[in-house]
Amino acid sequence: MANRHEYEIAFVGLKPGKHEYVYDIDDKFFADYQPQDFTDAQVTVKLTLDKKSSFLMLKFEIGGAVTLICDLCGNTLQKNLWDEFEVLVKMVDNPEEMNDTEEDPDVYYISRTESHINIAGWMYEFINLSIPLQRTCGENPDGSSKCNQEALDMLRKLNEHHIENGNPIWKDLDKFRNN
Ligand SMILES: [Zn+2]
Repeated sequence: MANRHEYEIAFVGLKPGKHEYVYDIDDKFFADYQPQDFTDAQVTVKLTLDKKSSFLMLKFEIGGAVTLICDLCGNTLQKNLWDEFEVLVKMVDNPEEMNDTEEDPDVYYISRTESHINIAGWMYEFINLSIPLQRTCGENPDGSSKCNQEALDMLRKLNEHHIENGNPIWKDLDKFRNN
């Protein structure tokens, strides 16, 4: 994943100043990573790379949408993504040492002799960071929940059933422990 060439930028050959790249990201991009809790990614990442003599300023603009599952009722939800992230990539003689001690997550060091940067890891991280933490259907203008009420009722009944009868899975585990 980290070596996929399409996400490598040969910045050494670029003129000083701003350069734009646009990436269309779908679920295939995430196949190399752990399973994601979203599907149907239709994400556009616009990267602006500003090349200076001793550093690169990277600006990632995340747009598009993903499909999530509501935490409460299990309905699928399409969420629009919109966020921006910046990374300052400094060229130094001792990048490993500097990366080990740098506390600012938005600053990254590479060697002065480096010719390429791979942006796949940042894209992965920033797409994930732009997904809302609260994953619920939300509310109607009148304040009522947009959740699937039938599913909520069903879940409530299942929960009550488990509390009354004990969860059979745990009962079996208890048996196993006692042996
Ligand atoms: Zn819901």
